[in-house]
Order: sequence, then C-alpha cells, then structure tokens
Amino acid sequence: MLSIDDIVAGGLCIGCGLCKSIAGAERIRMVMTPEGRERPVAVEPLSREVLATINAVCPGTQIEGADPKAIPDDAETDLIWGPVIPSTLTIAHASDPVVRHRGAAGGVLTALGQYLLRSGEVELVLHVKARPDAPVRSVATVSETPEAVLDAATSRYGPAAVFEDLESVLARGRPFAVIAKPCDIGAMRRMAEVDKRARELLRYGLTLACGGASDLIKSLDVLKRFHVVEKDVSLFRYRGYGNPGPTRVETTGGRSFELSYEDMWGNESGWRIQPRCKICPDAIGEAADVVSSDCWPGGAPEGEDDGFNAVFARTRAGVSLFERAVTSGALTVVRSIGIRDMDLFQPHQVRKKRAVWARLQGMREAGMVVPAVERLRIADLAATNEESENEREKHGAVTRARAGRLGEPPAVAVG
Ligand SMILES: Cc1cc2nc3c(=O)[nH]c(=O)nc-3n(C[C@H](O)[C@H](O)[C@H](O)COP(=O)(O)OP(=O)(O)OC[C@H]3O[C@@H](n4cnc5c(N)ncnc54)[C@H](O)[C@@H]3O)c2cc1C
Ligand code: SF4
Ligand code: SF4
Repeated sequence: MLSIDDIVAGGLCIGCGLCKSIAGAERIRMVMTPEGRERPVAVEPLSREVLATINAVCPGTQIEGADPKAIPDDAETDLIWGPVIPSTLTIAHASDPVVRHRGAAGGVLTALGQYLLRSGEVELVLHVKARPDAPVRSVATVSETPEAVLDAATSRYGPAAVFEDLESVLARGRPFAVIAKPCDIGAMRRMAEVDKRARELLRYGLTLACGGASDLIKSLDVLKRFHVVEKDVSLFRYRGYGNPGPTRVETTGGRSFELSYEDMWGNESGWRIQPRCKICPDAIGEAADVVSSDCWPGGAPEGEDDGFNAVFARTRAGVSLFERAVTSGALTVVRSIGIRDMDLFQPHQVRKKRAVWARLQGMREAGMVVPAVERLRIADLAATNEESENEREKHGAVTRARAGRLGEPPAVAVG
C-alpha cells in the first residue's frame, strides 16, 4: 500500500483531490507546490482503512478501462481507442450558438451537461471553472442550472482538483453527472465501486481527449509575458469564444491581452505537462460514457472556425444520452466519421497510447512504482510496435526516471 507521499513522490498524482475528500480536510490538505501542481499533504496520520480506500480509487495507483457490463453489443473495440459505438462517432456541435461559441471547441460537453439538467435526469453537474477570486487557477464547481454549466464552459488546462469536496456532493443525495478529464472519470468509477452513494447517484461520466494537464507555471508564464501580476487578473480564459479562440487575460485595471492557440500550444515541448500525464495509459476516456474532442486534422488548428467536436459514446448510457441530445435538438450532428479519423485528429494520443507500456517497463526497471493498469490493451498495443520502438521508449523512461524527471519533490505549499 502506498502512502500519499509515495504517490506524489512517484510522479503518480494528478491532483484530483479525491484522497482529501475521502480522508477529510482535517487530515489531507491540497497545496500548490513550487512546481505549480496541486498536491495532497497528509497533515494527520491516516488509518489503514482510509489509506486502503485511497489506494483503491486514486488515479495514480489504479487505472482501468471501461466496465465490460456497461458496453453494448454493437460497440467496436479498437486497439487504440477502446470501445466505441460506431453510430455515435460523429463530428457534432452544440445547437445553441452561444454554447457553441463559448465552449472549448463545439460546446458538446456543455450542451450535454445542460441537457441532463433540463431533462431532470441529473440534478447536479460536477465539473471545474476558473476560480472567481483568482481566475488563473481552477476550482471544482457544482452546477444546478444550464446557465451555471455554461459559466464553466471551456478547457482549464492547469491544475484542477475536481473531487476535492466530492463528499459534499455525495452527501446531498441527488443524482449527478461528472464532466472531467479521463483520469478523473476513471477515479469516479472506482469510487462508485467502494461507495454506495456514488454507485447510486453517479448517472454519467463525460470527458474530453486529454493531451495532459499543465503546471500552473505554464499559465503564470503567460502573465509574465504581458507584465501582469496575478492579483490584478480578472479573467484568464485558455480558449473558447471561438474555436479554438485565443488565450485571453483581462486585468482589474481594464487592460486585456491575447495569445493565439499556436503561440500557447504550438510547441509540444512547451506544454509543461505533469509527470503523471507522461505515462498516462488512458488519456482518451475509456471509463467515460461520452467523449468529446477536438477534430483538427493533424491535431492542430489551421485557423478559427465555428466550433466542432469529434464525439462518440462508449456505453449504453452514453449512446442513449447522445441520441436523446440529438433528437431534442441540444446537439447538431454534422457528419459521421470512422475510427481512423480519430487517429488523424489526435496523433499525439496515438503516439502516447502506443508508448505507455514500454515507459512503464522503464519506470519499473529504474525502481519506481507504477500504477496497476487493467483493460486498456497497452501490452497488446506494444506488441504491435517494432521491438526497437519499445526499447527506445523504455530506455528513455529509465533515463528520465534515474534523472528524477518522472518523480516529483515532496509536496510543499507556496502562496
Ligand atoms: C487538460 C486538458 C487537455 C486537453 N487535451 C486535449 C487533447 O489532447 N485533444 C483534444 O482533442 N482535446 C483536448 N482537450 C479538450 C478540448 O480542449 C475540449 O475541451 C474538448 O474538445 C471538449 O470540447 P467542448 O467544446 O465539448 O467542451 P466545453 O463544452 O467547453 O466543456 C468543457 C467542460 O470540461 C470541463 N473541464 C475543463 N477543463 C477541465 C479540467 N481541467 N478538469 C476537469 N474538467 C474540466 C469544464 O468544466 C466543462 O464542463 C483538453 C482539455 C483539457 C482541459
Ligand atoms: S491523484 Fe488524486 S487521489 Fe491520488 S494522491 Fe493525487 S490528489 Fe490524491
Ligand atoms: S494526460 Fe492522463 S493523467 Fe494527465 S490530465 Fe490527462 S487524463 Fe489525466
């Protein structure tokens, strides 16, 4: 069994906050580290029972694919993309032009969250938004109205502890959906296995394809570039208001600055993604009901467009939601696509999924702890690689692990 410090030092923590919710705020505190990551610190000893629960659900220790019982017979399981229901594999967007414009891409996740509230199927949507008092940072939010879901639209690329106070959501006893990153949705599914309330109340897990969560430093560097100090920021939007839309900073003094998507994310080596993301066996949401991603051929936008997502459902619940959202007019489908189109839209996901097994071998060889990975086909995928590719990935991981680049310093707080 791993301690909280072991998980963090092993580079396995993504800062979801679930351990804090399980142990209680009096035992675990989330801190912002000097590296710009939200990390848990145990301020009181944890009982064996609490630590065992955390080890069973933490997305740093356990990573699992879809529950086979949730997958309908007409799903096809692709070696890269996992279970996908072909009839739902489409280019789509939110029908409401405001949602489409303000959403990260086509606003599909926001439209689905709003649809679920309007239909009464869920009463709460748990997701994240910019922190009102510090908009460079992100905070978990529980939306009870379609307007609130819209307020939290678009991507928050930096740290975002969506489950920091999951306990209070469960305590309300009301049906809910989670919109979050793939690792978060996986953790939520495991939580449903150990917590009866989560099992009964969680109705949907909706996710995005995820290139990795960046360190807060990435966002603070944007401020530096414009000579803005964080306390003066009144708005920090990574994208949206267009597809992709600019990264926009506004200050309380009325100044505003914009960076293009290309400037912000054009160079993959400058993404500053967290260590856990570099070995992520599921950045494509295999435990989710519906996945919504960007759909730029080659993986990068050539300019602005009206807003489109590549969308697919994986589960019975997901296909039913997708179909009802289309029929009710919440979503507009532009055209059907094939699964190889997803490779074209997400080349970095394909590269990572193929490399992960060898990277984990390398970490193991360097004496690091690795997460338990199940139902994600990473060994099968590695078997389709050239032996030399696997060796290169493994050797790279051994080298990075020995240089300390796959682990993290112990979590200490800064401001
Ligand atoms: C860290 C990160 C990495 C990404 N990498 C890729 C990628 O590699 N490929 C790709 O196609 N797309 C990626 N995206 C997703 C992309 O930016 C769009 O969010 C996605 O296409 C969904 O678009 P949408 O218009 O349906 O979303 P919207 O309708 O704008 O809805 C987004 C929803 O996601 C929630 N959310 C946003 N950020 C977070 C977060 N950090 N944690 C939890 N919930 C969050 C919001 O609360 C909102 O409900 C990434 C997003 C994030 C946050
Ligand atoms: S990944 Fe989440 S549950 Fe695991 S240690 Fe980090 S904050 Fe806690
Ligand atoms: S790459 Fe994986 S671990 Fe990192 S934020 Fe995305 S889903 Fe989570």
